Amino acid sequence: MRVADGDVRSSIEIRMAVETRVSAFQTAQRRFDAAADVIGLSDDTRRGLREVKRELTVHFPVHMDDGSVHVFTGWRVQHNISRGPAKGGIRYHPDITLDLVKALAMLMTWKCSVVGLPYGGSKGAVAVDPAKLSLSELEHLTRRYATEIAILIGPEKDIPAPDMGTNPQVMAWIMDTISMHSGHSVPAAVTGKPVDIGGSEGRIDAPGRGATYLTLEALKYLHIEDDPPTVAIQGYGQVGRSAARLLTEAGLKIVAVSDSKGGVYNPSGLDLAALDEHRQVRGGVTGFKKAEAITNAELLELPVTVLVPAAVQDVITADNATRIRARLITEGANAAVAPEADPILHDRGIFLIPDIIANAGGVIVSYFEWVQDLQAFFWEEEEINTKLHHVITRAFYDILHTSVNKRIDMRLAAYAIAVQRVANATMVRGIYP
Ligand code: NAD
Repeated sequence: MRVADGDVRSSIEIRMAVETRVSAFQTAQRRFDAAADVIGLSDDTRRGLREVKRELTVHFPVHMDDGSVHVFTGWRVQHNISRGPAKGGIRYHPDITLDLVKALAMLMTWKCSVVGLPYGGSKGAVAVDPAKLSLSELEHLTRRYATEIAILIGPEKDIPAPDMGTNPQVMAWIMDTISMHSGHSVPAAVTGKPVDIGGSEGRIDAPGRGATYLTLEALKYLHIEDDPPTVAIQGYGQVGRSAARLLTEAGLKIVAVSDSKGGVYNPSGLDLAALDEHRQVRGGVTGFKKAEAITNAELLELPVTVLVPAAVQDVITADNATRIRARLITEGANAAVAPEADPILHDRGIFLIPDIIANAGGVIVSYFEWVQDLQAFFWEEEEINTKLHHVITRAFYDILHTSVNKRIDMRLAAYAIAVQRVANATMVRGIYP
Protein backbone atom coordinates (compact mmCIF):
# COMPACT_ATOMS: atom_id res chain seq x y z
CA MET A 1 0.00 0.00 0.00
CA ARG A 2 1.32 3.41 -0.76
CA VAL A 3 0.88 6.80 0.62
CA ALA A 4 -0.17 10.03 -0.98
CA ASP A 5 -1.29 13.63 -0.64
CA GLY A 6 1.43 14.83 1.44
CA ASP A 7 -0.88 14.47 4.22
CA VAL A 8 0.24 11.18 4.27
CA ARG A 9 2.42 8.83 6.00
CA SER A 10 2.41 12.07 7.74
CA SER A 11 4.25 11.62 10.91
CA ILE A 12 4.72 15.19 11.90
CA GLU A 13 2.27 13.94 14.49
CA ILE A 14 4.76 11.45 15.89
CA ARG A 15 7.42 14.09 16.09
CA MET A 16 4.87 16.39 17.66
CA ALA A 17 4.05 13.95 20.40
CA VAL A 18 7.65 12.96 21.10
CA GLU A 19 8.73 16.56 21.16
CA THR A 20 6.49 17.82 23.89
CA ARG A 21 5.08 14.74 25.61
CA VAL A 22 1.64 16.11 24.89
CA SER A 23 -0.92 14.81 22.46
CA ALA A 24 -0.38 15.11 18.72
CA PHE A 25 -3.24 17.56 18.44
CA GLN A 26 -1.95 19.73 21.28
CA THR A 27 1.41 19.82 19.54
CA ALA A 28 -0.28 20.77 16.26
CA GLN A 29 -1.93 23.60 18.17
CA ARG A 30 1.44 24.73 19.52
CA ARG A 31 2.86 24.86 16.00
CA PHE A 32 -0.15 26.90 14.98
CA ASP A 33 0.40 29.22 17.99
CA ALA A 34 4.02 29.84 16.95
CA ALA A 35 2.89 30.86 13.46
CA ALA A 36 0.03 32.93 14.91
CA ASP A 37 2.58 34.79 17.07
CA VAL A 38 4.70 35.57 13.99
CA ILE A 39 1.76 37.11 12.14
CA GLY A 40 0.19 38.74 15.22
CA LEU A 41 -3.14 36.95 14.91
CA SER A 42 -5.97 38.25 17.12
CA ASP A 43 -7.14 36.08 20.02
CA ASP A 44 -10.62 35.76 18.52
CA THR A 45 -9.32 34.32 15.24
CA ARG A 46 -6.85 32.11 17.07
CA ARG A 47 -9.58 30.51 19.14
CA GLY A 48 -11.45 29.43 16.01
CA LEU A 49 -8.44 28.12 14.09
CA ARG A 50 -7.07 26.16 17.07
CA GLU A 51 -10.03 23.77 16.95
CA VAL A 52 -11.31 21.40 14.26
CA LYS A 53 -14.64 22.21 12.68
CA ARG A 54 -16.14 18.73 12.60
CA GLU A 55 -15.19 15.32 13.95
CA LEU A 56 -17.25 12.30 13.03
CA THR A 57 -16.66 8.95 14.76
CA VAL A 58 -18.22 5.85 13.23
CA HIS A 59 -18.47 2.27 14.46
CA PHE A 60 -19.52 -0.14 11.76
CA PRO A 61 -19.86 -3.91 11.23
CA VAL A 62 -18.12 -5.88 8.49
CA HIS A 63 -18.71 -9.51 7.52
CA MET A 64 -15.36 -11.31 7.70
CA ASP A 65 -14.42 -14.24 5.44
CA ASP A 66 -14.84 -16.76 8.29
CA GLY A 67 -18.49 -15.76 8.73
CA SER A 68 -17.93 -13.64 11.85
CA VAL A 69 -18.86 -9.96 12.15
CA HIS A 70 -16.21 -7.50 13.25
CA VAL A 71 -17.03 -3.95 14.36
CA PHE A 72 -14.46 -1.37 13.24
CA THR A 73 -14.01 2.25 14.35
CA GLY A 74 -13.25 5.07 11.95
CA TRP A 75 -13.24 8.86 11.75
CA ARG A 76 -13.49 11.77 9.36
CA VAL A 77 -12.36 15.13 10.69
CA GLN A 78 -12.55 18.50 8.96
CA HIS A 79 -10.34 21.18 10.45
CA ASN A 80 -11.23 24.23 8.36
CA ILE A 81 -13.14 24.85 5.13
CA SER A 82 -12.91 28.64 4.83
CA ARG A 83 -10.82 28.47 1.63
CA GLY A 84 -12.73 25.67 -0.09
CA PRO A 85 -13.79 22.05 0.34
CA ALA A 86 -11.80 19.95 2.74
CA LYS A 87 -8.99 17.76 1.37
CA GLY A 88 -7.22 14.97 3.15
CA GLY A 89 -6.21 11.35 2.96
CA ILE A 90 -7.69 8.24 4.50
CA ARG A 91 -5.36 6.17 6.64
CA TYR A 92 -5.79 2.53 7.60
CA HIS A 93 -3.57 1.83 10.59
CA PRO A 94 -4.11 -0.17 13.79
CA ASP A 95 -2.73 2.54 16.11
CA ILE A 96 -4.61 5.53 14.77
CA THR A 97 -6.55 7.71 17.25
CA LEU A 98 -9.01 10.59 16.93
CA ASP A 99 -6.38 12.90 18.43
CA LEU A 100 -3.96 12.02 15.64
CA VAL A 101 -6.61 12.39 12.94
CA LYS A 102 -7.39 15.88 14.26
CA ALA A 103 -3.70 16.83 14.14
CA LEU A 104 -3.38 15.52 10.59
CA ALA A 105 -6.53 17.35 9.49
CA MET A 106 -5.10 20.62 10.79
CA LEU A 107 -1.81 19.91 9.03
CA MET A 108 -3.69 19.45 5.75
CA THR A 109 -5.28 22.89 6.14
CA TRP A 110 -1.81 24.47 6.34
CA LYS A 111 -0.32 22.28 3.58
CA CYS A 112 -3.08 23.16 1.10
CA SER A 113 -2.93 26.80 2.10
CA VAL A 114 0.83 27.22 1.79
CA VAL A 115 0.82 25.99 -1.81
CA GLY A 116 -2.24 28.12 -2.59
CA LEU A 117 -4.82 25.39 -3.23
CA PRO A 118 -8.48 26.40 -2.76
CA TYR A 119 -9.01 23.73 -0.13
CA GLY A 120 -9.41 23.33 3.58
CA GLY A 121 -7.97 20.43 5.51
CA SER A 122 -9.38 17.09 6.63
CA LYS A 123 -8.30 13.55 7.42
CA GLY A 124 -9.97 10.19 7.76
CA ALA A 125 -8.95 6.90 9.26
CA VAL A 126 -10.00 3.42 10.25
CA ALA A 127 -8.30 1.60 13.11
CA VAL A 128 -7.29 -1.55 11.22
CA ASP A 129 -4.19 -3.32 9.96
CA PRO A 130 -5.03 -3.70 6.25
CA ALA A 131 -2.31 -6.33 5.80
CA LYS A 132 -4.38 -8.68 7.98
CA LEU A 133 -7.50 -8.42 5.76
CA SER A 134 -8.29 -10.38 2.62
CA LEU A 135 -9.03 -8.35 -0.51
CA SER A 136 -12.72 -8.99 -0.09
CA GLU A 137 -12.70 -7.93 3.59
CA LEU A 138 -10.79 -4.79 2.62
CA GLU A 139 -13.37 -3.96 -0.02
CA HIS A 140 -16.31 -4.52 2.36
CA LEU A 141 -14.68 -2.45 5.08
CA THR A 142 -13.92 0.36 2.63
CA ARG A 143 -17.41 0.47 1.13
CA ARG A 144 -19.09 0.47 4.54
CA TYR A 145 -16.71 3.13 5.93
CA ALA A 146 -17.33 5.27 2.82
CA THR A 147 -21.07 4.91 3.42
CA GLU A 148 -20.71 5.92 7.07
CA ILE A 149 -18.79 9.10 6.23
CA ALA A 150 -20.82 9.84 3.08
CA ILE A 151 -22.71 12.56 4.96
CA LEU A 152 -19.49 14.57 4.97
CA ILE A 153 -17.68 13.75 1.72
CA GLY A 154 -18.31 14.76 -1.87
CA PRO A 155 -16.70 16.89 -4.60
CA GLU A 156 -17.93 20.18 -3.12
CA LYS A 157 -17.56 19.17 0.51
CA ASP A 158 -14.59 16.98 1.33
CA ILE A 159 -12.38 14.99 -1.02
CA PRO A 160 -10.42 11.99 0.32
CA ALA A 161 -7.19 10.60 -1.13
CA PRO A 162 -4.84 7.70 -0.34
CA ASP A 163 -2.70 7.80 2.77
CA MET A 164 -0.83 5.22 4.78
CA GLY A 165 -2.47 1.80 4.32
CA THR A 166 -4.72 2.86 1.45
CA ASN A 167 -4.07 3.00 -2.29
CA PRO A 168 -5.68 3.73 -5.69
CA GLN A 169 -7.80 0.55 -5.46
CA VAL A 170 -9.28 1.69 -2.14
CA MET A 171 -10.02 5.08 -3.74
CA ALA A 172 -11.74 3.29 -6.64
CA TRP A 173 -14.06 1.46 -4.18
CA ILE A 174 -14.88 4.74 -2.41
CA MET A 175 -15.57 6.47 -5.72
CA ASP A 176 -17.82 3.58 -6.77
CA THR A 177 -19.69 3.55 -3.44
CA ILE A 178 -20.41 7.31 -3.56
CA SER A 179 -21.41 6.92 -7.23
CA MET A 180 -23.84 4.08 -6.41
CA HIS A 181 -25.49 6.25 -3.73
CA SER A 182 -25.80 9.11 -6.23
CA GLY A 183 -27.03 7.01 -9.15
CA HIS A 184 -24.30 8.32 -11.44
CA SER A 185 -20.48 8.44 -11.56
CA VAL A 186 -18.90 10.97 -9.22
CA PRO A 187 -15.19 10.78 -10.06
CA ALA A 188 -14.36 14.07 -8.29
CA ALA A 189 -15.38 12.54 -4.94
CA VAL A 190 -11.84 11.20 -4.37
CA THR A 191 -8.35 11.68 -5.82
CA GLY A 192 -5.48 9.26 -6.22
CA LYS A 193 -7.78 7.00 -8.28
CA PRO A 194 -6.59 4.77 -11.10
CA VAL A 195 -6.33 6.69 -14.40
CA ASP A 196 -9.05 4.42 -15.91
CA ILE A 197 -11.73 6.04 -13.74
CA GLY A 198 -10.60 9.67 -13.77
CA GLY A 199 -7.25 9.58 -12.00
CA SER A 200 -4.58 12.00 -13.17
CA GLU A 201 -1.50 11.40 -15.26
CA GLY A 202 1.62 12.24 -13.28
CA ARG A 203 0.10 11.53 -9.86
CA ILE A 204 2.51 8.71 -8.97
CA ASP A 205 5.66 10.76 -9.61
CA ALA A 206 4.19 13.99 -8.23
CA PRO A 207 5.80 14.08 -4.73
CA GLY A 208 9.26 13.17 -6.10
CA ARG A 209 8.83 15.59 -9.00
CA GLY A 210 7.84 18.43 -6.69
CA ALA A 211 10.87 17.68 -4.49
CA THR A 212 13.08 17.73 -7.59
CA TYR A 213 11.78 21.10 -8.79
CA LEU A 214 12.35 22.60 -5.33
CA THR A 215 15.85 21.14 -5.03
CA LEU A 216 16.83 22.74 -8.34
CA GLU A 217 15.38 26.11 -7.27
CA ALA A 218 17.21 25.97 -3.93
CA LEU A 219 20.54 25.14 -5.62
CA LYS A 220 20.03 28.17 -7.84
CA TYR A 221 19.11 30.42 -4.91
CA LEU A 222 22.09 29.23 -2.87
CA HIS A 223 24.45 29.67 -5.86
CA ILE A 224 25.69 26.14 -5.38
CA GLU A 225 27.69 25.29 -8.44
CA ASP A 226 29.11 21.87 -7.59
CA ASP A 227 29.69 20.16 -10.91
CA PRO A 228 27.66 18.06 -10.70
CA PRO A 229 25.85 18.42 -7.36
CA THR A 230 25.81 15.07 -5.57
CA VAL A 231 22.79 13.54 -3.85
CA ALA A 232 22.15 10.97 -1.13
CA ILE A 233 18.60 9.63 -0.82
CA GLN A 234 17.37 7.77 2.24
CA GLY A 235 14.37 5.59 1.29
CA TYR A 236 14.31 4.22 -2.22
CA GLY A 237 10.52 3.92 -2.36
CA GLN A 238 7.91 5.81 -4.30
CA VAL A 239 9.15 9.31 -3.42
CA GLY A 240 12.86 8.41 -3.33
CA ARG A 241 12.90 6.56 -6.66
CA SER A 242 11.01 9.29 -8.51
CA ALA A 243 13.33 11.90 -7.05
CA ALA A 244 16.45 9.85 -7.95
CA ARG A 245 15.33 9.46 -11.55
CA LEU A 246 14.24 13.07 -12.01
CA LEU A 247 17.27 14.59 -10.27
CA THR A 248 19.52 12.47 -12.50
CA GLU A 249 17.66 13.71 -15.57
CA ALA A 250 18.30 17.25 -14.29
CA GLY A 251 22.06 16.58 -14.23
CA LEU A 252 22.67 15.77 -10.57
CA LYS A 253 24.63 12.70 -9.50
CA ILE A 254 23.01 10.19 -7.14
CA VAL A 255 25.83 8.74 -5.07
CA ALA A 256 23.90 6.91 -2.35
CA VAL A 257 20.47 5.42 -1.73
CA SER A 258 19.03 3.16 0.95
CA ASP A 259 16.00 1.22 2.05
CA SER A 260 15.00 -0.25 5.38
CA LYS A 261 17.73 -2.93 5.14
CA GLY A 262 20.65 -0.56 4.46
CA GLY A 263 22.29 1.57 1.82
CA VAL A 264 24.76 1.61 -1.07
CA TYR A 265 27.33 4.29 -1.90
CA ASN A 266 29.47 5.04 -4.94
CA PRO A 267 31.15 8.45 -4.95
CA SER A 268 31.43 8.25 -8.74
CA GLY A 269 27.66 7.91 -9.05
CA LEU A 270 25.22 4.99 -8.94
CA ASP A 271 24.09 3.28 -12.13
CA LEU A 272 20.34 3.60 -11.45
CA ALA A 273 19.25 1.27 -14.28
CA ALA A 274 21.50 -1.51 -12.96
CA LEU A 275 20.37 -0.74 -9.40
CA ASP A 276 16.71 -1.03 -10.36
CA GLU A 277 17.39 -4.40 -12.02
CA HIS A 278 19.21 -5.55 -8.86
CA ARG A 279 16.27 -4.35 -6.75
CA GLN A 280 13.78 -6.27 -8.90
CA VAL A 281 15.69 -9.47 -8.34
CA ARG A 282 16.81 -9.00 -4.74
CA GLY A 283 13.87 -7.02 -3.40
CA GLY A 284 16.11 -4.22 -2.09
CA VAL A 285 19.20 -2.14 -2.81
CA THR A 286 21.59 -3.95 -0.49
CA GLY A 287 24.13 -6.27 -2.08
CA PHE A 288 24.42 -4.08 -5.18
CA LYS A 289 27.89 -4.90 -6.52
CA LYS A 290 28.80 -1.60 -8.14
CA ALA A 291 28.82 0.25 -4.81
CA GLU A 292 29.99 -0.11 -1.22
CA ALA A 293 27.59 -1.03 1.56
CA ILE A 294 26.71 1.68 4.09
CA THR A 295 24.21 1.97 6.92
CA ASN A 296 21.26 4.33 6.91
CA ALA A 297 22.97 6.40 9.61
CA GLU A 298 26.15 6.69 7.51
CA LEU A 299 24.16 7.77 4.46
CA LEU A 300 22.84 10.80 6.31
CA GLU A 301 26.35 12.00 7.10
CA LEU A 302 27.91 11.63 3.65
CA PRO A 303 29.74 14.60 2.09
CA VAL A 304 27.08 15.40 -0.53
CA THR A 305 25.51 18.55 -1.90
CA VAL A 306 21.92 17.43 -1.33
CA LEU A 307 20.43 15.08 1.23
CA VAL A 308 16.90 13.77 0.60
CA PRO A 309 15.47 11.89 3.58
CA ALA A 310 12.50 10.15 1.92
CA ALA A 311 11.82 7.24 4.26
CA VAL A 312 10.57 7.79 7.80
CA GLN A 313 10.26 10.47 10.47
CA ASP A 314 12.85 11.65 12.99
CA VAL A 315 16.01 10.49 11.22
CA ILE A 316 17.86 13.79 11.63
CA THR A 317 18.02 14.51 15.32
CA ALA A 318 19.92 16.70 17.79
CA ASP A 319 22.43 13.86 17.91
CA ASN A 320 23.42 13.67 14.24
CA ALA A 321 22.46 17.19 13.04
CA THR A 322 25.93 18.42 13.93
CA ARG A 323 27.47 15.81 11.64
CA ILE A 324 25.33 16.39 8.54
CA ARG A 325 27.60 17.52 5.71
CA ALA A 326 25.01 18.22 3.01
CA ARG A 327 24.47 21.87 2.14
CA LEU A 328 20.82 21.39 1.32
CA ILE A 329 18.19 19.06 2.78
CA THR A 330 14.99 18.33 0.85
CA GLU A 331 12.69 16.82 3.47
CA GLY A 332 10.77 14.36 1.28
CA ALA A 333 9.47 12.28 4.19
CA ASN A 334 7.12 13.92 6.63
CA ALA A 335 8.91 15.00 9.79
CA ALA A 336 12.27 13.49 8.80
CA VAL A 337 13.96 16.30 10.73
CA ALA A 338 13.14 16.18 14.44
CA PRO A 339 12.13 19.54 15.99
CA GLU A 340 15.27 19.82 18.10
CA ALA A 341 17.41 19.39 14.96
CA ASP A 342 15.79 22.34 13.13
CA PRO A 343 17.71 25.10 14.96
CA ILE A 344 20.99 23.16 14.76
CA LEU A 345 20.74 22.85 10.98
CA HIS A 346 19.67 26.48 10.71
CA ASP A 347 22.63 27.69 12.79
CA ARG A 348 25.01 25.59 10.71
CA GLY A 349 23.75 27.26 7.54
CA ILE A 350 22.24 24.08 6.11
CA PHE A 351 19.28 25.08 3.97
CA LEU A 352 16.08 23.09 4.60
CA ILE A 353 13.15 22.67 2.23
CA PRO A 354 10.56 21.59 4.84
CA ASP A 355 8.22 18.64 4.36
CA ILE A 356 5.09 20.81 4.22
CA ILE A 357 6.21 21.96 0.77
CA ALA A 358 8.90 19.39 -0.16
CA ASN A 359 6.34 16.59 -0.62
CA ALA A 360 3.34 18.81 -1.50
CA GLY A 361 3.57 17.70 -5.15
CA GLY A 362 1.19 14.89 -4.18
CA VAL A 363 -1.66 17.09 -3.02
CA ILE A 364 -1.07 19.59 -5.83
CA VAL A 365 -1.57 16.94 -8.50
CA SER A 366 -4.54 15.60 -6.51
CA TYR A 367 -6.02 19.07 -6.90
CA PHE A 368 -5.37 18.87 -10.65
CA GLU A 369 -7.13 15.49 -10.68
CA TRP A 370 -10.20 17.00 -8.99
CA VAL A 371 -10.25 19.92 -11.45
CA GLN A 372 -9.99 17.53 -14.43
CA ASP A 373 -12.80 15.36 -13.04
CA LEU A 374 -15.08 18.37 -12.50
CA GLN A 375 -14.54 19.68 -16.02
CA ALA A 376 -14.49 16.17 -17.55
CA PHE A 377 -11.50 17.18 -19.62
CA PHE A 378 -8.12 15.61 -19.05
CA TRP A 379 -4.65 17.02 -19.50
CA GLU A 380 -1.50 15.43 -20.90
CA GLU A 381 1.20 14.66 -18.37
CA GLU A 382 3.38 17.44 -19.75
CA GLU A 383 0.72 20.02 -18.97
CA ILE A 384 0.32 18.65 -15.45
CA ASN A 385 4.06 18.81 -14.81
CA THR A 386 4.24 22.39 -16.09
CA LYS A 387 1.39 23.43 -13.79
CA LEU A 388 2.96 21.56 -10.85
CA HIS A 389 6.22 23.41 -11.47
CA HIS A 390 4.42 26.73 -11.48
CA VAL A 391 2.44 26.14 -8.28
CA ILE A 392 5.24 24.63 -6.20
CA THR A 393 7.92 27.11 -7.32
CA ARG A 394 5.69 30.06 -6.53
CA ALA A 395 5.05 28.64 -3.05
CA PHE A 396 8.79 28.10 -2.54
CA TYR A 397 9.61 31.75 -3.26
CA ASP A 398 6.72 32.94 -1.06
CA ILE A 399 8.20 30.95 1.82
CA LEU A 400 11.75 32.03 1.04
CA HIS A 401 10.82 35.73 1.03
CA THR A 402 8.97 35.40 4.31
CA SER A 403 11.89 33.50 5.83
CA VAL A 404 14.37 36.20 4.77
CA ASN A 405 12.16 39.19 5.61
CA LYS A 406 11.03 37.95 9.01
CA ARG A 407 14.35 36.22 9.82
CA ILE A 408 12.67 32.94 10.64
CA ASP A 409 13.47 29.46 9.40
CA MET A 410 11.81 28.02 6.30
CA ARG A 411 9.47 25.79 8.30
CA LEU A 412 8.07 28.57 10.47
CA ALA A 413 7.83 30.81 7.41
CA ALA A 414 5.73 28.18 5.63
CA TYR A 415 3.39 27.89 8.62
CA ALA A 416 3.12 31.69 8.95
CA ILE A 417 2.02 32.07 5.32
CA ALA A 418 -0.42 29.20 5.56
CA VAL A 419 -2.06 30.42 8.75
CA GLN A 420 -2.31 34.00 7.47
CA ARG A 421 -4.19 32.91 4.35
CA VAL A 422 -6.67 30.80 6.29
CA ALA A 423 -7.13 33.59 8.84
CA ASN A 424 -7.83 36.10 6.04
CA ALA A 425 -10.49 33.83 4.55
CA THR A 426 -12.04 33.16 7.94
CA MET A 427 -12.16 36.83 8.87
CA VAL A 428 -13.51 38.12 5.57
CA ARG A 429 -16.29 35.52 5.60
CA GLY A 430 -17.24 36.47 9.14
CA ILE A 431 -19.17 34.45 11.68
CA TYR A 432 -22.54 33.00 10.68
CA PRO A 433 -25.29 33.94 11.50
P1 NAD B 1 7.43 3.86 0.29
O1 NAD B 1 6.90 2.86 1.25
O2 NAD B 1 7.16 3.70 -1.16
O3 NAD B 1 9.03 3.94 0.44
C1 NAD B 1 9.67 4.09 1.68
C2 NAD B 1 11.12 3.67 1.53
O4 NAD B 1 11.77 3.89 2.78
C3 NAD B 1 11.31 2.20 1.21
O5 NAD B 1 12.43 2.07 0.37
C4 NAD B 1 11.62 1.58 2.57
O6 NAD B 1 12.39 0.38 2.49
C5 NAD B 1 12.42 2.68 3.19
N1 NAD B 1 12.44 2.64 4.65
C6 NAD B 1 11.47 2.24 5.49
N2 NAD B 1 11.89 2.34 6.75
C7 NAD B 1 13.16 2.81 6.70
C8 NAD B 1 14.13 3.14 7.66
N3 NAD B 1 13.88 3.00 8.97
N4 NAD B 1 15.32 3.62 7.25
C9 NAD B 1 15.57 3.78 5.94
N5 NAD B 1 14.70 3.48 4.97
C10 NAD B 1 13.50 3.00 5.35
O7 NAD B 1 6.92 5.28 0.84
P2 NAD B 1 6.79 6.64 0.04
O8 NAD B 1 5.42 6.76 -0.52
O9 NAD B 1 7.98 6.82 -0.82
O10 NAD B 1 6.84 7.67 1.27
C11 NAD B 1 8.06 8.07 1.85
C12 NAD B 1 7.84 9.30 2.70
O11 NAD B 1 7.29 10.34 1.88
C13 NAD B 1 6.82 9.13 3.84
O12 NAD B 1 7.21 9.92 4.92
C14 NAD B 1 5.55 9.71 3.27
O13 NAD B 1 4.69 10.24 4.28
C15 NAD B 1 6.08 10.83 2.44
N6 NAD B 1 5.14 11.23 1.40
C16 NAD B 1 4.76 10.38 0.42
C17 NAD B 1 3.86 10.81 -0.54
C18 NAD B 1 3.40 9.91 -1.64
O14 NAD B 1 2.51 10.32 -2.40
N7 NAD B 1 3.98 8.75 -1.81
C19 NAD B 1 3.35 12.09 -0.50
C20 NAD B 1 3.76 12.94 0.51
C21 NAD B 1 4.64 12.48 1.47
